[in-house]
Amino acid sequence: MEEMLKIVNVNKVYKINKYENFQALHNITISFKSGELVSIVGESGSGKSTLMNLIGGLDSDFTGNIIVGEQDLSKLTDKELDRYRKDKVGFVFQSFNLISHLSILDNVTLALTLSNVSEKEKVERATSILKLVGLESQIKKKPTQLSGGQKQRVAIARALINNPDIIIADEPTGALDTSTTMQILKILKEIADSGKLVIMVTHSEKVASISSRVVEISDGRIVSDKQNTKYKKEKAKIFKENIEKKEEKSSKKPLKQNLSYLSAIKLSFHNMWASKTKNLLMAFGVAIGIGSLLLMLCFSSGITDYINNTMKSYSDPTIVTISKQSESISSIPLFDAEGTEIAKLKDGINKYLQENDYDYEVADEDLTPGFNIMTMLGPVSAYLEYDINNDGEITDDEKLNIFYLYTTPPYYSETNLVEGDMSTSSGGVMLTPAVYSFFGEETPIGKKIDFFVDINLPNYDQEIPINQVEITGIVDTSVMSGFPILYIDYDFFMSYYDNYSTPQPTTYYIQTPNETISNAINRYISTLEGYTGSIEESLANMFQSMASTIGTSLVILSIISLVVSAIMILVVMYMSVTERTKEIGVLKSIGARKKDIHRIFSSESFLVGLLSGICGLIVAGILLVIIYIVLINLVGIAPLSFKWYYVFIALGVSIVISILSGLYPASKAARLDPVESLRRE
Ligand code: ADP
Ligand code: MG
Repeated sequence: MEEMLKIVNVNKVYKINKYENFQALHNITISFKSGELVSIVGESGSGKSTLMNLIGGLDSDFTGNIIVGEQDLSKLTDKELDRYRKDKVGFVFQSFNLISHLSILDNVTLALTLSNVSEKEKVERATSILKLVGLESQIKKKPTQLSGGQKQRVAIARALINNPDIIIADEPTGALDTSTTMQILKILKEIADSGKLVIMVTHSEKVASISSRVVEISDGRIVSDKQNTKYKKEKAKIFKENIEKKEEKSSKKPLKQNLSYLSAIKLSFHNMWASKTKNLLMAFGVAIGIGSLLLMLCFSSGITDYINNTMKSYSDPTIVTISKQSESISSIPLFDAEGTEIAKLKDGINKYLQENDYDYEVADEDLTPGFNIMTMLGPVSAYLEYDINNDGEITDDEKLNIFYLYTTPPYYSETNLVEGDMSTSSGGVMLTPAVYSFFGEETPIGKKIDFFVDINLPNYDQEIPINQVEITGIVDTSVMSGFPILYIDYDFFMSYYDNYSTPQPTTYYIQTPNETISNAINRYISTLEGYTGSIEESLANMFQSMASTIGTSLVILSIISLVVSAIMILVVMYMSVTERTKEIGVLKSIGARKKDIHRIFSSESFLVGLLSGICGLIVAGILLVIIYIVLINLVGIAPLSFKWYYVFIALGVSIVISILSGLYPASKAARLDPVESLRRE
């Protein structure tokens, strides 16, 4: 029989600390043949496990040579060692080391999963091997549902799945009772008889007595090596057949040394499913951050959309509005009656346009005077009267306070009309939809009202009555529509006002040829002190600054909660690595590369990210509906808009954060020393 394993002059030294070493193996030289069932015996601490770890390729830190077939383990690279563990050796441990969240089938096929073997072939091979150890009916169970003996048989099946040449069993029966011990030994013997080398560590005399060879180690040295003359080799037909059949198959399709991303995700999914509650709670934590990010996106785009769609569409972009800014609430900001101030402004604008190479000059006929006066506070008030019940008397219910008094801006067009028409120059006035409730059931169009403007200034104290003026239209002016506002033609109003004083506008409208010129003029005006644009513009600006304040606080909130989430994921993943140290050791013992371990943990952070993203979407969705309902009921508008690609932003951010926070735990897992992690209890 050929020599399958040759150990030559092997020494193993453990570093205890900086200054002390401990030599666990001294000049071990021994060879083994295939078909042998070897028992390694010796006192606890004599170096048996140390030797097993060296033979199994779990520990490559030794001197001397361990030669398996053509390969010298002392000369292999990490990658080649991984491959060696996967293909050439199978491990069986005292404490079974099955992965509890995987089914029996998945435990057995783990090594095949690491090699990216097809699902069908995996099931086929696992079933036939589980049949050999008498467990074909338990394939779907979880390890916790099996007895100790059954678990060890699963572990043997797992060790056999890749048809290794050597089976290493470190005290395989140490945790089993006598009758189960005999069952396991019978299986190990059959494996050896089928032509493999089986090396097992044991404390039991009885176990040792049935093996073909007993090697005793004491203090790291081989002290005896005896062949068992009574050992009877039997024909192990079944194992042999199975193994030969397998060999055919694997030679046809060479295994790719690769754990696929899909398998990694499947493995992590099983693990996450095993601790659903923890993961769901964590996902909800992350979801708060993702949710507030989403809310912020919906809110800021909602405000922008609202301003763009609603407010700005109410005005003609080719008309620039310049209003004098109020210095105090008790004064009315007026341009002078002679037109000196506006002429100076016009010159300034033209100079600016010229300097900035705009081919346009504002002419006198482009300027239209107007006014907009708040009549709610301050020196001017206004109200209208209408005899609603037609009894010839005006009661308090038939008086309506006006909040703003406007001249009809030239940028209002038919599109602003809710009903009626724009012809205020015909001597009529227009009102906002807010007045509908005042007039009751009937439409206000065509009704004639009495209208009073009360001016209270130190040098001018008058009430101007405008009697029997017709309501020609109802205009919708976005946010202003909620207030009772009266629009009146400038010249028409001034013809009344004229009786008392010279007319002075608060506002000028400049007609420009296009939006570019308008924007340029607006830019210039914004640099001047004491002037503002239209009410619509200032409202839009107010909304925008409100939106950016709320937006900024949401950004801060989401950044804080995302940072907290990231730390949380890091901690949970880190704990998961600690909890699964044993599992990582097992994975390495069956040939998982660093890369594979890294991939499994990264997949887990990917899944956490995905789950959190989905939870975040749900949280944000619920909050959006609530906020929408509250806003609609409180203020009548809800500036929230949801765009489909936010779904991807949310999922993307959440996955990226999770993967980044999982990087450190994943690389820690990948770097774990398999020997140490398997030793851990
Ligand atoms: P056995 O399996 O025969 O009980 P081991 O091979 O586990 O013994 O250990 C052999 C000796 O090496 C023991 O004295 C043990 O304390 C020591 N040893 C094992 N692992 C380490 C380690 N990582 N660092 C230091 N000493 C170790
Ligand atoms: Mg041991």
